[in-house]
Amino acid sequence: MFPNSEATAPLPPSRTTSPDPVSCGLDDEPPSTPRRHPIWKDVPDHQWDDWKWQQTNSIRSVRQLRGLLPFTRDELEAIGKLEADYKLAIPPYYFSLINPDDPDDPIRLQSVPSPLEAEGGFELDDPLEEDKDSPVNGLTHRYPDRVLMLTTPNCTMYCRYCTRKRATLTRGGWEGISKDDERMIEYIRRHPEIKDVVVSGGDPLTLPIPKLRYYLENLKAIPHVDVIRIGTRVPVTLPQRLYDEELLSLLESAEKVYIQTHFNHPREITPEAARVCRSLLRRGMMINNHSVLLKGVNDSLQTMRNLLRGLLRIKVRPYYLFHCDPVTGAGHFRTSVWKGLEIMEGLRGHMSGIGIPTYVVDSPHGGGKIPLMPNYMVSMSDDAVILRNYEGMLVRYQAEDKPGTITRTPTRGVSGLIQGDKTSLMPEGNERMARRRKLQLIDDAPAGCGSHAETPEPRRGSAILPLPLMNGQHAANG
Ligand code: SF4
Repeated sequence: MFPNSEATAPLPPSRTTSPDPVSCGLDDEPPSTPRRHPIWKDVPDHQWDDWKWQQTNSIRSVRQLRGLLPFTRDELEAIGKLEADYKLAIPPYYFSLINPDDPDDPIRLQSVPSPLEAEGGFELDDPLEEDKDSPVNGLTHRYPDRVLMLTTPNCTMYCRYCTRKRATLTRGGWEGISKDDERMIEYIRRHPEIKDVVVSGGDPLTLPIPKLRYYLENLKAIPHVDVIRIGTRVPVTLPQRLYDEELLSLLESAEKVYIQTHFNHPREITPEAARVCRSLLRRGMMINNHSVLLKGVNDSLQTMRNLLRGLLRIKVRPYYLFHCDPVTGAGHFRTSVWKGLEIMEGLRGHMSGIGIPTYVVDSPHGGGKIPLMPNYMVSMSDDAVILRNYEGMLVRYQAEDKPGTITRTPTRGVSGLIQGDKTSLMPEGNERMARRRKLQLIDDAPAGCGSHAETPEPRRGSAILPLPLMNGQHAANG
């Protein structure tokens, strides 16, 4: 998978390692402390930090796994059968993030085969129909101005839910993919509408340096290509690969490079991952993160908040949260769409907007990414829309400065807001309003019946201001 011919660049030293990965703050605030499974405790730091050592010592068989993790006899038999069809690879670094005492550990679920992979259901080999939008073998042209290039079937760790399992995990998948390199580049050269190229796989950072150089130099030289996105899980699963100055310099020299990485759980945000993200950022490469919503891994609001806050801490921008695709053998990872929306409801307003990814379903039949979010528009009329904020406050928003068109009818609630009787309905127990009261900016609002209180008439000195219109006037209130 990795070339053995590359010169080994001087390796940076490891930080202090923990002899016991389980008891030492396994789920501390990320990036927490470096970890090593006890079986590798005597490996010298210069080897541990060498990606080639990590690669050579990756766990690649059920036989190796059974000596490291507890399994039932049935589990071993089932995953032993899967081994004939699907690859397995877990570098010692990534394996050390697993809590071996927890059979449902989120790192284990992502990397260790499960008997559930053999169960069928609504599952497809090519759920996004990438192959049907492929004018050239290995290249998908779906959206107007961007293409996806599959450059290798190899990865440093094989994620058990991989959308491209047919090419990556499946033995003999796309071993011959790189034979179409020139045709892919030529297709991009001949299509000036292509502005953005996603270089993916597999993981392109597993490519030999000369091959990666071939892709990057050719793409850089195409004037209409503005953006080269490298889709890689290397910062998560084998950050040591990015200790290599030669690789970093190559990525930097391509100038148009953005990194698309893939953290799924806060425990993956380690000091090693933080360090390589810093290296990439210092060389001018923006890092965006894709997460996949995975049952048992990150399908809880608290885990997702910890993940997103941890990413901001290492200056990685949360970009997409993907609903897990219906790929063969990954049904046990899939949650409901409601779960995704429930999590999104707990993010917007509760944390900084720069930390909130777009939740998307990648549509069947090659329909592409479709964003989903909770409903924030509650009702509407010719004159105004009724919007809801994260607190449950309902507010009348009049975007245009024009005379009202509604014939007034005695009413209340949301209907009253539409008619302009009030400008907002405030939920009881609102902390923000309590703070304002403390500051004596407003008087107590009268409690409404039910869970909302209607805002009082605006008055001089009040912090409840009428809504601004586009021309700076104020909407009628009360
Ligand atoms: S790193 Fe990406 S391409 Fe490779 S197995 Fe994981 S999800 Fe699939």
